[in-house]
Amino acid sequence: MVVVMDGRASAEQVEAVIMRLEECGFSAHPIYGVRRIVIGAVGDRRVLNSLGLETMPGVERVVPIMKPYKLVSREAREENTVVRVGHVAIGGSQLAVIAGPCAVESREQLLAAAHMVQQAGAAILRGGAFKPRTSPYSFQGLGEEGLKLLAEAARQTGLATVTEVVDEHSLELAVEYVDMLQVGARNMQNFRLLQMVGRSGKPVLLKRGLSATVEEWLMAAEYIMSEGNGQIVLCERGIRTFEHSTRNTLDLSAVPLVKSLSHLPVIVDPSHATGDRRLVGPMARAAVAAGADGLLIEVHPEPTQALCDGPQSLTPAQFVSLMEELRAVAAAVGRAA
Ligand code: PEP
Ligand code: MN
Repeated sequence: MVVVMDGRASAEQVEAVIMRLEECGFSAHPIYGVRRIVIGAVGDRRVLNSLGLETMPGVERVVPIMKPYKLVSREAREENTVVRVGHVAIGGSQLAVIAGPCAVESREQLLAAAHMVQQAGAAILRGGAFKPRTSPYSFQGLGEEGLKLLAEAARQTGLATVTEVVDEHSLELAVEYVDMLQVGARNMQNFRLLQMVGRSGKPVLLKRGLSATVEEWLMAAEYIMSEGNGQIVLCERGIRTFEHSTRNTLDLSAVPLVKSLSHLPVIVDPSHATGDRRLVGPMARAAVAAGADGLLIEVHPEPTQALCDGPQSLTPAQFVSLMEELRAVAAAVGRAA
C-alpha cells in the first residue's frame, strides 16, 4: 500500500507515519514527489486496518496496491520519475541518447567513439568492460582497464557513462569509474545482483530479460527499489519470439504500456532488438514516436572490426544522420532532442 501525505504535511508528520509503520513490522519507503510525499509500505495487508493511519496528522489517504510490484507502480507515484545520471536527466522533456560501442576494446577505439557520439549530440557514453557472452570463447571485455578508459573518455568529452555489471566484483569496480550501472538482459532475474545494485547508490539501467514478461521486468525493478534505490531506467531491448529474421522482436507496445504501469522512465535499444544496423534507424524513430524517454544505440568507429555486435553497430556517419532525424521526430511528439 501507499500512504499519501497531504501536500502540506510536515517532516515530523512524515517521520511519525514511518515510525508507526516500522513498529508494526512494515518496511517504509518514502518517495519524494514535487507536490507531495508518499510512503510506500510493504508488509502484511491483514495488519493494515488496525494501524489507524488515516487518522494520523498529515495523512491524506491510504491506497492499497493490488499489483505485485508496489514501489515502482504508478499508484505509488503519479508523476514521472526523472533519473539523474551525472548532469543528464532521463525521463524529463529532453530525449536522452546513450551511445557507444558494445564493448570497450582499446583506448583508440573508445576515445574515437566518445568524441564522435558527443559531437553528434549523445548525452551518455556506453561501453561494456565485463561482457556476458553466449560463448566462453568470445571476447569477455577488458575488465578494470576498460572502466579506466571509460573514465578517461568522460573526462575528455564531458559525457556521463554507463557500463554493465555482471557480479559483485564488477559492481565494486564499476562504482568507482562510471555514473550508471547496467543490468543486462541475461541478468534481469539475477535477484542478488539486483539487490546489490539497489544498495550501490548509483542509477541503474535495467534491461528487459530475453523472455521476460512486463510484470517480471517490473518485479526486477521492484527488487532494486526495495533496497532504497529509485533511480531506475527501464530498457526495452527486444524479446525472443519465433521470428529469426531479426535478432529479437522489438516490443514497442511495452513503451506506452510500462509508462502507464510505472512512473519510471523507459528507453529503447533498437540495436540489440534488431541485430541489424539497417533496421536501427527506423526502430529508433518509431521508439521516440511511441513515447520512449531515450535510446541506447551501439556505434563503432569501424563496425567491421568490432569484437562484439559489429553487424548491429552504426557507423559514425549513420549515427550523425540518425541524430538529425531524431530531432524532427522528437519535436513532433513534443520533446527536445
Ligand atoms: C549490451 O548492452 O551490450 C548487452 C549485452 O545488452 P543485452 O543485455 O540487452 O543483451
Ligand atoms: Mn552489444
